[in-house]
Amino acid sequence: MNVLILNCGSSSVKFQLISTDLERIEQNTDERLAHGIIERIGGEAIITLLATGKPPQRSTAPLRETRAAVELILRWACAEESGIKEVKSVADIHAVGHRVVHGGEQFKQSVLITDEVLRGIEDCIDLAPLHNPANIKGINAAREVFGKGLPQVAVFDTAFHHTLPEHAYLYALPYQLYRRHRIRRYGFHGTSHRYVAYRYRQLKNIQRDQTNIITLHLGNGCSAAAIKNGNSIDTSMGLTPLEGLVMGTRSGDLDPAIIEFVAAKEGLSAQEVETLLNKQSGLLGLSGLTDDMRELLDEARESDDRRAKIAIEIFCYRARKYIGSYLAAMNGADAVVFTGGIGENSAEVRAKICDGLAWLGLELDSERNHALTAGHEGVISSDGSRLAAYVIPTNEELLIARDTVRVVYGVP
Ligand code: ADP
Repeated sequence: MNVLILNCGSSSVKFQLISTDLERIEQNTDERLAHGIIERIGGEAIITLLATGKPPQRSTAPLRETRAAVELILRWACAEESGIKEVKSVADIHAVGHRVVHGGEQFKQSVLITDEVLRGIEDCIDLAPLHNPANIKGINAAREVFGKGLPQVAVFDTAFHHTLPEHAYLYALPYQLYRRHRIRRYGFHGTSHRYVAYRYRQLKNIQRDQTNIITLHLGNGCSAAAIKNGNSIDTSMGLTPLEGLVMGTRSGDLDPAIIEFVAAKEGLSAQEVETLLNKQSGLLGLSGLTDDMRELLDEARESDDRRAKIAIEIFCYRARKYIGSYLAAMNGADAVVFTGGIGENSAEVRAKICDGLAWLGLELDSERNHALTAGHEGVISSDGSRLAAYVIPTNEELLIARDTVRVVYGVP
């Protein structure tokens, strides 16, 4: 089965084309045929298309909306020049899997998209006003381009965290706010946390219910998850992706009174303060330089920049605090797993986060930590470490493709 994975943002479409089926899932032999990104949709779009094993093709074209981008992807995939031998016509795309950010309380797993499901995703717009409308546009665009008969599956960022117990998902607010408006912690990056938990149990050759780990997804957005007996029992992002760890441009946890305080002092509306917390805070806000961890690390190393250093310090300190609190929440764990652009690539950040955790059993092996090359998975703690540490590159698209296949075949 050739599955097209779409991740539609407000002005971008990321895609992958993955060849897989139930047998290949079992044997771990799925194959990525192509991937790419179309950015700045609405104007002169920037298009990057890559067929596996071929050089990237870069171009620009005026693309008005998501539908035009999906059409372009399909046309390219079918064209001789792309070199994807498995795809010759629209009939060679057998299903579409969509990343959908918010599934609210309604969607606890990946589902086949029907009119009713689409209405359910629309009902969640309130909870993710920036993301869900773009995801819905992507679903409608794919329906128009491929026809309503092609199976489409929604895979939700929130779904993996549906197992959070009440004591972890409720905020200590008046209870009627939860009843009336469903204000609670939902959590995000669920597909990533679920994928690395799955890879961990494959590496260890253990069952799902034996999986007791803390996963740290450290990318532009960052979140931690406490996974006990295979289920997410706590996670750092909340009603929205703003809560929790320090991120590229998001503040993560803060005193909620700051919002009103900043609004009054700076003459901003509540919405402007929220934008400031989402777009101008985190590593960018602290350093005043960049939201990019690699650049910050270079800056701290080469120019000894004080604010770059403090931004990195706070980033790592917050992550360390979450490890400690999740160990308490789960009555101990077997491993901490790093993933995401920073988690997978920066031995320095991993070492800083684990620094001082030897007393609770986490002993990093410095050589292993630094020897692990980008894109590879492996253990980075010493053999005697009671709490192990791993790096496992995430692969959300693969999980979306596999969920799509399972949903289409009706296999749990
Ligand atoms: P997204 O959350 O958008 O998927 P990524 O997971 O790609 O983002 O993570 C992007 C982050 O990873 C950036 O802060 C980038 O600087 C960081 N990163 C990538 N490579 C390295 C590296 N070698 N060292 C440190 N940070 C890195």
